[in-house]
Amino acid sequence: MKITIFGTGYVGLVTGTCLADVGHDVLCMDVDADKIARLRDGEIPIYEPGIESMVKSNVANGRLQFTTDPAEAVAFGTLQFIAVGTPPDEDGSADLQYVLAVADTIGRHMNEYKVVVDKSTVPVGTADRVHAAVANALEARGETIDFDVCSNPEFLKEGAAIEDFTYGARIVVGTDSERVKELMRECYSPYNRLHEKLMYMDVRSAELTKYAANAMLATKISFMNEIANLAERLGADVEQVRHGIGSDPRIGYQFIYPGCGYGGSCFPKDVQALARSAADVDYQAELLNAVESVNRRQKKNLFTKLSQVFDGDLTGKTIALWGLSFKPNTDDMRDAPSRTLMEAVWNAGGRVQAFDPQAMKECRRIYGERDDLTLVADRIQAVKGADALVICTEWKDFRTVDFEWLKSNLATPVIVDGRNLYDPQTVKRAGLLYYAMGRGDSL
Ligand code: NAD
Repeated sequence: MKITIFGTGYVGLVTGTCLADVGHDVLCMDVDADKIARLRDGEIPIYEPGIESMVKSNVANGRLQFTTDPAEAVAFGTLQFIAVGTPPDEDGSADLQYVLAVADTIGRHMNEYKVVVDKSTVPVGTADRVHAAVANALEARGETIDFDVCSNPEFLKEGAAIEDFTYGARIVVGTDSERVKELMRECYSPYNRLHEKLMYMDVRSAELTKYAANAMLATKISFMNEIANLAERLGADVEQVRHGIGSDPRIGYQFIYPGCGYGGSCFPKDVQALARSAADVDYQAELLNAVESVNRRQKKNLFTKLSQVFDGDLTGKTIALWGLSFKPNTDDMRDAPSRTLMEAVWNAGGRVQAFDPQAMKECRRIYGERDDLTLVADRIQAVKGADALVICTEWKDFRTVDFEWLKSNLATPVIVDGRNLYDPQTVKRAGLLYYAMGRGDSL
């Protein structure tokens, strides 16, 4: 099957590469010429485990190609996937300008039947707007060419994107057209062999399914952070509570880890966008708003603890920071808790000495060169001469530590752990002060 993908970010590149890997002919189009040039040279613009070798082998066998030419892209595939960003607008709603720009491009250049497949996360009703944008562009050309629009939200997570795309629990397709169903079945048939994963539903339900899934996961996290904050004040240990509730199959162990708040390119913007959609139809989404505000507060929690350690004065203090990405196995720092922490430290007159296994380049791109940020080569150098250590991301490299060594290298023996990586008793025995999330020690 010939398939076009618009957007070569985390979702577009993974989708295109995986579809090429199962035998489809894929052309990926991006407006970012630099990105396309790098991809053509075999350089991968994102960090995603396993993607590099897959891109290289599929480029080599000719099934995966890259272009910046919109006419070539539209002419190529019967399926035209939209996988461009939908960042938050000022009012929290999803900014659809990139999605609608692709729809316009398709309408301008198509000369035969196409299915526009919306893979970006978009509010309910967007398929209608995409349909209108394609139709308007066709009309401007004086053309009437048949096309369909369907919704095919993506559920992959960064860090395990290839595995999720390949072995995901479900493939949601929102359409009422038999022709589209058949084409989408053909596209996804290699992933549908073990059991029936394709779920057809109406387009609005498919659009809402994606937001509901992310909002549910974000709710679990904010709920657990609320319990952690309570545990801290009540002298309980949230990690014991987590074990206690996770064993109930109605609750389960997944997504109930307390921490320093969720970040990334999806949960924060999707919860806000869904709340905004609710407001647009005069519905007060109280739970969604609470999930969001608990998370905002939680992201500030690390700085609050740190500040209390130094009696509110961080002037001239050097903070060692382990972990910049919003979660392990990615270089993505969009809405990462590390950013909230670093910016608060800088505002308070402190400096940051940071290490992350993958996100250093991204950090430099975001913040550039500054006197109050030093990016160092490993976790050991981050700690040397620092006044305290803060942990923002649970990379596996951070899971075991020689606490005696840590104590002798920190100017003040303090760890503020946003991911509850260590046993509090072990850390304290080494003579360090340990402030984790909801582990009984309130500052
Ligand atoms: P991204 O920012 O990494 O990539 C978007 C890409 O689209 C960029 O390379 C950009 O240059 C390109 N682009 C913008 N306008 C274009 C145009 N007119 N034509 C062609 N390319 C264009 O975004 P992402 O993280 O891959 O997310 C894409 C969508 O998928 C979003 O709606 C997001 O919410 C959703 N999503 C993301 C994830 C995730 O984990 N990142 C998971 C599921 C769903």
